[in-house]
Amino acid sequence: MLKTHYCGRLGTEHVGRQVTLAGWVHRRRDHGGLIFIDLRDSTGLVQVVVNPQKAPEAHAAATGVRGEFVVQVAGEVTLRRPGTENVGLPTGAIEVAASEVTILNGAKTPPFYINEDVPVEDTLRLKYRYLDLRRERMRDNIILRHRIVAEIRRFLTAEGFIEIETPVLANPTPEGARDYLVPSRVYPGNFYALPQSPQQFKQLLMVAGFERYFQIARCYRDEDLRADRQPEFTQLDLEMSFVTQEDILELIEELYLSIAKTVRPDLNVPAPFPRLTYEECLRRFGTDKPDLRYGLELVSFTDLCAGTEFAVFKGAVDSGGSIEGILVPGGAEFSRKEIDDLTETVKQLGARGLVSIGYFADPASATEEQVRSPVLRHLGLETARKLAKRAGAGAGDLLLIVAGVGGIGMKEPGSVHRVKPALDALRRALGAKLELTDPDMLKFFFVVDFPLVEWNEDENRWDSTHHLFTSVKPEDLALLESDPGKARSVAYDIACNGWEIGSGSIRIHRRKEQEQIFRLLGINEEEAQIRFGHMLDAFEFGAPPHGGFAPGIDRTAALFAQETDIREVIAFPKTKSASDPMTGAPSPADPSLLETLHLKVVYPEKKDQRGSAAQEAESERGE
Ligand code: ASP
Repeated sequence: MLKTHYCGRLGTEHVGRQVTLAGWVHRRRDHGGLIFIDLRDSTGLVQVVVNPQKAPEAHAAATGVRGEFVVQVAGEVTLRRPGTENVGLPTGAIEVAASEVTILNGAKTPPFYINEDVPVEDTLRLKYRYLDLRRERMRDNIILRHRIVAEIRRFLTAEGFIEIETPVLANPTPEGARDYLVPSRVYPGNFYALPQSPQQFKQLLMVAGFERYFQIARCYRDEDLRADRQPEFTQLDLEMSFVTQEDILELIEELYLSIAKTVRPDLNVPAPFPRLTYEECLRRFGTDKPDLRYGLELVSFTDLCAGTEFAVFKGAVDSGGSIEGILVPGGAEFSRKEIDDLTETVKQLGARGLVSIGYFADPASATEEQVRSPVLRHLGLETARKLAKRAGAGAGDLLLIVAGVGGIGMKEPGSVHRVKPALDALRRALGAKLELTDPDMLKFFFVVDFPLVEWNEDENRWDSTHHLFTSVKPEDLALLESDPGKARSVAYDIACNGWEIGSGSIRIHRRKEQEQIFRLLGINEEEAQIRFGHMLDAFEFGAPPHGGFAPGIDRTAALFAQETDIREVIAFPKTKSASDPMTGAPSPADPSLLETLHLKVVYPEKKDQRGSAAQEAESERGE
């Protein structure tokens, strides 16, 4: 080794020892006589002092170093002079008096500060990711992620799980996203699909008798990217035999508590994790992944508005739509501008508008002058009072209400189906605005009893809500024939602070039941045999009852790192347009390789998109 010790691990116990260190120059200060170097390596920083009298050669070398130079330093660990200690630094009580300084490599001036936590433009960070990763915040995030994964492996191994790898080149396993395809050279016109998850293989491992499997699995889904999505991501994939839903939820809860205790004991992680049904979740919060760190629950006003003359509410009631809202304690004081901003938020989610009613006195006795609402004249004081009573509003409170009409397309603006998504967005905006999102709290919970299928309006058919291997609740079996949309599945999610972290289900393990689901989803016998014949066959060779879960590692790490974008916990992520500014991927293939793979590229008409990703990467690289 070119070093005897790591910078960040030195302490008062090393005082008097000769050490050799190697790392990067984090900062260099020349005091005219003494030169101070903050030397950084993977473990942290230590201060090096170079004295021109005591070590003239080392001093001459230190004069030439600049930020991010790679240097080796030999010297003695000494206590800092009283009054010069740095309590903010773990090694702040000591320093290293250098006797030798050797430059191992120089460094150009980095394109952004590495030694300061200042905002840097995203593309620049990704282009020089290896420098970005040198920054303290990113280094800590990546190390935290490692510790989470290490704890997962330790915990599950102790629980009797074994880690098994499954193929990346396989046939499609549907999870509701688009596949990434890999052409086969050997079979012209045939393709492997990168796994959207190891779903089928893990079930087959249960048929194989392993009983407790896990894998830190890479999954690939060609979807539009967001803060919590990347084209490739990692999940903790697990599967168990002979279990009930509750067995799996308990295991996952214990696992998360154990991760929290190991990596972030300072965070508040309330336990036990609540179990909410999907129906309750939607009714109370408008989404299946609410942020439970605060209340602001939805209130339904539909029944109270029967008979109103206010056209917006009347239209909703008469068409079988709904009227729901949120009580904002102390919100009566919101300015016009603040209400306009919140209106914009709900409009983006497809609501037609936002009705606001502020109460400046006890609503039960408030006069017209004491109730402020642009629609009060149409609504009437009486209804305004009734709404307040239902929501439990008092003096100083505000009601924000969204109405949606029935009988129009689910995605159309103003549809009853847009009410809950709009209120979910409103709730999030209010939670942030009122500072109700305690950053030191991780409020995990489970959502259970998801609907088995949901109607796909565009394609006129049922889609699996989770995936097509999910079992139906035994008591809802009859609904599969009579009213499939009402049938609940044995599927569950774990969510936290407004994010879905993972999903799982108890699976079907008999051929007949699987075939029944395929029929419901419009997959005919022949297609079922071609796509999933191996699963159907396996179910006939003594498949045990089984189920599993798959929490996302990126999202989990982001939560524990208190980051809001999963890219902050991925060493080499892609941009939001799925490219990599550092390597330039994706890029055009060598024509001879295309030929070998029996492929011809048909470029989109009009715009010649040849090499567009590469060009984009180039412009992102600033070339
Ligand atoms: N394969 C599922 C997913 O990726 C998880 C599971 O059902 O275990 O969401």
